[in-house]
Amino acid sequence: MSKFWSDVVREIEPYVPGEQPKIAGLIKLNTNESPYPPSPEVAKTIDRDAVDQLRLYPDPNASELSQALADYYQLDVGQVFVGNGSDEVLAQLFMAFLQGRGTVLYPDISYSFYPVYCQLFGVPAKTIPLREDFSLALADYSTEAAGIIFPNPNAPTGMGVALDEIEQLLKARPDTLVVVDEAYIDFGGESAASLVSRYDNVLVVQTFSKSRALAGMRVGFALGQRSLIEGLERVKNSFNSYPLDRLAQRAATAAIQDDDYFKASCAKVVATRDRMTSRLEALGFTVLPSQANFIFAKPPAAVSAETLAAQLREHKILVRYFNRERISDYLRITVGTDEQIDTLLAVVESLLKGA
Ligand code: PMP
Repeated sequence: MSKFWSDVVREIEPYVPGEQPKIAGLIKLNTNESPYPPSPEVAKTIDRDAVDQLRLYPDPNASELSQALADYYQLDVGQVFVGNGSDEVLAQLFMAFLQGRGTVLYPDISYSFYPVYCQLFGVPAKTIPLREDFSLALADYSTEAAGIIFPNPNAPTGMGVALDEIEQLLKARPDTLVVVDEAYIDFGGESAASLVSRYDNVLVVQTFSKSRALAGMRVGFALGQRSLIEGLERVKNSFNSYPLDRLAQRAATAAIQDDDYFKASCAKVVATRDRMTSRLEALGFTVLPSQANFIFAKPPAAVSAETLAAQLREHKILVRYFNRERISDYLRITVGTDEQIDTLLAVVESLLKGA
């Protein structure tokens, strides 16, 4: 600590990212990345010409990508905002709409960046407990608030929220900004993108890091009514006018335009998820119903989640264990390729036999 640290920096508990191992050969099921590469169109677009053009600043409006996203979600280009990963988009919306405006509500078991942003931007937070079965019930969000933020599907539970429940909330709370963090929406959830044109109090945030396999490139975006997008643009233009570098703009545009590849990758992940769920249940695990590219699973009584995570690591398989109240009996396991999941299942089975 230095004498120059501000009170905020001294007090903050920064987000701890999942491990990105330095050693090769691990089966990496700990940070919900895609097990498949991005669309082959991505590699094609990062050509000699793209590299030559790196001498020029990027398009500050990411116009081509924003238009491609608008076309994809059947919105106007003015209803799209892009940024360096959805974490950055979330930070920008905290600055634009939540800082200094009152309390923010979010689920008590949820994405751990929300409390960090609340601390960083001095936003009072109130957590709303998930129900007994870990479901997220929006009917419970009745406290007066400037904003409500939640992932759909929720993380790390993987459980989805129905679109009509979200619409009820938007109708009931016209003066509250509702942020739907759809990082994992493409694996079976119902996107609130379809509500954006009808409600001025919703922002949908998505990412290219999961279903579009571009976590290493950092591309996220928000969909909302023009007035909200303009607020985000103001923040962006006040500290960093370039939302994305040139390569990221090209790569993301190529990825969004290759819908067949995208749909096929998501379908493979969903099929593997359902297969691994049944197999783990047969081995005595309790698995929450997932609409995401990961599952949240409680091992049978013979072994604790923490011990199993450590044992899997010895077998070169990384999964995520959260030492947090209410969920310390569970492991979050990213859906890998069929081959990776077969290895995982075989190792789990042999460990349980020895337990
Ligand atoms: N929201 C949720 C719920 C997430 O789990 C993640 C990934 N850790 C993000 C947002 C951020 O994703 P990215 O910054 O890679 O777009």
